[in-house]
Amino acid sequence: MSKTPITVAHGDGIGPEIMAACLHILHSAGAQIEIEEIVVGEKIYLSGNTAGIEPSAWDSLRHTKVFYKAPLTTPQGTGFKSINVTTRKTLGLYANVRPCVSYHPFVRTKHPKMDLVIIRENEEDLYAGIEHRQTDEVYQCLKLITRPGSEKIIRYAFEYAVRNNRKKVTAFTKDNIMKMTDGLFHKVFDEIGAEYPQIEKEHWIIDIGSAKMADTPEAFDVIVLPNLYGDVLSDVAAQIAGSVGLAGSANIGEHAAMFEAIHGSAPRRAGQNLANPSGLLLAGVMMMVHIGQPEVAERVHNAWLRTLEDGIHTYDIYQEGLSKEKVGTKEFAEAVVARLGQQPQTLSPVTYLKGEAVKPIEVRPSATVPAKKELVGVDVFLHWNEEDKNPNVLGGALEQQVKVEGVKLSMISNRGQKVYPDGTPETFCVDHWRCRYVGTHGSITHDHVIGLLQAVRAAGFDFIKTENLYTFDGEKGYSLGQGE
Ligand code: NAD
Repeated sequence: MSKTPITVAHGDGIGPEIMAACLHILHSAGAQIEIEEIVVGEKIYLSGNTAGIEPSAWDSLRHTKVFYKAPLTTPQGTGFKSINVTTRKTLGLYANVRPCVSYHPFVRTKHPKMDLVIIRENEEDLYAGIEHRQTDEVYQCLKLITRPGSEKIIRYAFEYAVRNNRKKVTAFTKDNIMKMTDGLFHKVFDEIGAEYPQIEKEHWIIDIGSAKMADTPEAFDVIVLPNLYGDVLSDVAAQIAGSVGLAGSANIGEHAAMFEAIHGSAPRRAGQNLANPSGLLLAGVMMMVHIGQPEVAERVHNAWLRTLEDGIHTYDIYQEGLSKEKVGTKEFAEAVVARLGQQPQTLSPVTYLKGEAVKPIEVRPSATVPAKKELVGVDVFLHWNEEDKNPNVLGGALEQQVKVEGVKLSMISNRGQKVYPDGTPETFCVDHWRCRYVGTHGSITHDHVIGLLQAVRAAGFDFIKTENLYTFDGEKGYSLGQGE
């Protein structure tokens, strides 16, 4: 079997120790890998490179397309860019896959039957990083949910479920409030889910869904969710499974993949042969499946389970009475190596699909069908803080001073709540006003928008942005103001 090239970063803090332990176990299990080492993280940051990664490292990643990464330390202070975020975005790693499993009775947990996988969208949502300060009082972060992005992650989740013999996929959104963005994610979930009749499907509103997951995680199997919710919930899930030290994750893209532990570089534990290599090892197991060596993945995973069962534990999971031996990083690795070829006896042994079925999951979003798009209005956002921020004064002034043939003011809202006409005096207002103009006779043109902005400016108002109001095939492409 030819060796698969992989890029390895030994990382900071406990990184080098746990990476050495994991590579030792993988090699001992027969992994056919050829390692290209790169240095990223603290050393590079402190040399004055705020990205923490040298251009040459990208060459290796583009060549191997597989990144096995130990945790890195991001120095304190502003200006340092997270390598995780940079790598995910640069390599298009759209899916973050995190299995969260409890190992009762060998690792203490309140949830002995937990065995779920969180599949988090990794590239969009509020993490697009598009933020603006617009007025004295208001800051904005754009939440972008796209159809191709949603299709990719949701199809990935269903394909993952099929390949891994999972029975159910659950989506979490907040589409009762964000009907357009989260609504799209939910809609795509229903569409794609319909192609997988053998898999049970369910959708929960994120608030009650997370409460249920934290209370009864055994009710879930695969959970797919947008970026921010996934970020939060995957940490909750890993923690309640027993320990963040035990979970690994995969970041999967069309062109590359990155495998890492979910914990950080634990600098206080560094250099003492104390750290638990399990999270990074389980990430390595996912990597072996990804590169088509499922036999190695299986051997390592089962030997690791057996080691846990035999009570050989690092300090973070060691418990008097339950554990048999407290060991360091190196001794733990040796214990796993000694059990290669053995199966767990109480915990369920792991099997991975072999042969053809092990090809990486590939997903392609469907081709976009352009809709008939019609411009029917425009929201003009103003920075205005006069007259005790009285909406009736603003509304009256706009009606009187901003007159453009073909468009009319239909409402003003403040933080989404309609305040003009017919607002309520109790509504608290800030200095950021959305003034909705619509066509007097149906649709409008971009020239109407430009004319309107000129009139708004001529009347002395400070417009800070606009959002065009479109219909798509006759369906509104914008939300109504609360109370509109
Ligand atoms: P951390 O995950 O490093 O540590 C949190 C706690 O968990 C500590 O008490 C630590 O001792 C313990 N712990 C973590 N991993 C362990 C292991 N394998 N074995 C035993 N105990 C373990 O989080 P932190 O202290 O908030 O962050 C430290 C540094 O790591 C920071 O610079 C942070 O930016 C970085 N970090 C990196 C990544 C990454 O590279 N993916 C992720 C998170 C944090």
